[in-house]
Amino acid sequence: MKQEEYIQQGEKYILKTYNRYPVVLEKGEGVYLYDAEQKKYLDFGAGIAVFALGYGNKAYNDALKEQVDQLIHTSNLYYNIPAVEAAEKIVKASGMKRVFFSNSGTEAIEGALKVARKYAYNKDDSKDYEFIAMDHSFHGRSQGALSVTGNAHYQDGFIPKEFRAVFAQFNDLEDVKSKITENTCGIICEVVQGEGGIYPADPEFLKGLRKLCDEKDILLIFDEIQCGMGRCGSLFAHDLYGVKPDVMTLAKALGCGVPVGAFVVNEKADGALVPGDHGTTYGGNPLACAAVNAVFDQFEEKKIPEHVEKVGQYLWDQLEILKKEFCTITAHRGLGLMQGLEFAPEKSAGEIVSLALEKGLILMTAGNNVIRFVPPLIIEEKHVDEMMKILREVLKEKDC
Ligand SMILES: *Cc1c(COP(=O)(O)O)cnc(C)c1O
Repeated sequence: MKQEEYIQQGEKYILKTYNRYPVVLEKGEGVYLYDAEQKKYLDFGAGIAVFALGYGNKAYNDALKEQVDQLIHTSNLYYNIPAVEAAEKIVKASGMKRVFFSNSGTEAIEGALKVARKYAYNKDDSKDYEFIAMDHSFHGRSQGALSVTGNAHYQDGFIPKEFRAVFAQFNDLEDVKSKITENTCGIICEVVQGEGGIYPADPEFLKGLRKLCDEKDILLIFDEIQCGMGRCGSLFAHDLYGVKPDVMTLAKALGCGVPVGAFVVNEKADGALVPGDHGTTYGGNPLACAAVNAVFDQFEEKKIPEHVEKVGQYLWDQLEILKKEFCTITAHRGLGLMQGLEFAPEKSAGEIVSLALEKGLILMTAGNNVIRFVPPLIIEEKHVDEMMKILREVLKEKDC
């Protein structure tokens, strides 16, 4: 079947919640993807910051194949070896206490919110507890995760006003302080906002949140679903800030494409949920956790965070040069291999991304007219050069 026919079939049978690009991706190799007509694309999206190891990593693929033959699923009524091993790896790497595995980022958020609510409820069960979340945040599409997602575009029509969190300005500690009440049970924020447009937190902001949560004895949740797992040049983005959360959520690169998420709790948050309080049928199944183990092993072997720091700096320098060349680029933000370029309102980041795709470069948009660069974490300087060449061509054609 031809690419166009697959697209028509998809339009016919898949629910239309996305405006997809007219490309059917069929195969991956390293940092390249191929469509159904064998056209090659340089991938600077990694399936939305997921496929950190690149495509066709042999050790990762072999680990999954082996686990498929061994055991795919057991449920959480029993222990399974990959889950026990993966949990230990996450706990040791984060310095936190225990892990709950979920099937997605959204579900990791749901669990994290339940931990904070239960922690507060255990102290005083007479109150209705609420969260402080950040403007322009993104935490997922379920009712709970959406309630703390600071974007009316996603919330309207789904989350009634009274169920929404209280939203504060990201990086504005005084605003957060002014919104704390005796009903607040937790503060949730991304360490680097992703979907919202690639906004890193200010160090003072995170330190202030930590202090505030300690004073009020409420839980601080860091959503590291996008910015964690090496993306920012350290295994967890909060490591760069020296500020620890009470609960951390992970997903995206955690399984590098096998659907798996997790929330991780520290000593303080550990006892909040007790048997019966939370559960999942698939979460932490042997196949998903074999992926997590393989990811951690590969991260260690390939020294991924150190590599990201180095290549991330190179990407930063190149994008700084580009910003000087094109006056329609109004801002450049980010950490490691999570960077964004913001364009003046008269230029459309979406249009630039579409043109780049035609030229064999996969980029993604974010927030308000931002192009987001979240490539596989194994990219090298030569791939950055290749990307820059195509992007520069597009920007020149678009008279940016
Ligand atoms: C992607 C993302 C989520 C949601 O994860 P899903 O796996 O799509 O459910 C939550 N928070 C952040 C910061 C994300 O980037």
